[in-house]
Order: sequence, then structure tokens, then C-alpha cells
Amino acid sequence: MHEYGLAEGVLDSVRQRAGGRKVAGLRVRFGVRHAVDEESLAQAFGFVAEGTEAAGAEVKLITVPATLTCQDCGQTAETSDVLAVCPHCAGENVDITGGDEMTLESITYEPVPAAAPSSSAAPSSSAAERG
Ligand SMILES: [Zn+2]
Repeated sequence: MHEYGLAEGVLDSVRQRAGGRKVAGLRVRFGVRHAVDEESLAQAFGFVAEGTEAAGAEVKLITVPATLTCQDCGQTAETSDVLAVCPHCAGENVDITGGDEMTLESITYEPVPAAAPSSSAAPSSSAAERG
């Protein structure tokens, strides 16, 4: 299960950004080359995040396609299959580029418990961060 190594990388990024805030959920983008399964990643993340501020966070996986370029006909296409053939001429002389990224897209934080009952402001501007 290579998801454990990936989950540790994700956890590092999450903890750097979270700065001690309790993490409710996160979205990560993995290139298709990583061949990550959302369920396995979520399971692995739950394991490595145990005892941290990200424990129990919901993991959403977005798989990023790779780009296929055909050397025979010049066709380019997105592909989620790194063993793909050209969709235009069915040639196997294709370059697959990209699809190897790993990006922490956003983090959702647990709402801070309202200690003061008079709070009516909604300091939610940092509920989701993009980077
Ligand atoms: Zn082609």
C-alpha cells in the first residue's frame, strides 16, 4: 500500500498549513500516475494522522489526468490511463506527460467552539484555503 507514504506527505503539508487548527477535511489532487485509490488514501491518512490535529479528517481525492501526445499524428488528449494509446490513430507511439503531481488543494477546519454566546460575527474567511 504505497498510499501510506503518500498520506504522510499529505499530512506534512496539512500540518504546516493548519498550524494547530483542528482539521475537518481536506482535498488533495493526485496525478493519475500515482494510481491512488481514494478509499485507501483516506484509510492510510486516518492511520498516519492519528493523534494529530488532522485525526479523523475527511479526505477527498481528485485524480488529475495526464496529457497524451501522439508522436505519429500529433494528437494531444487528456488520459487517465498511463498505458493509453492515441485516441486518434490508435498508435502506441505516445508521450505521457504530467499526471505525477501531488497538490494539497484545500483544507476545511473544524469550527472553533463559540465560547462567548454573544458572538454573531462569522469569522469564516479562513474556512477553506487555496494554495
Ligand atoms: Zn495518433
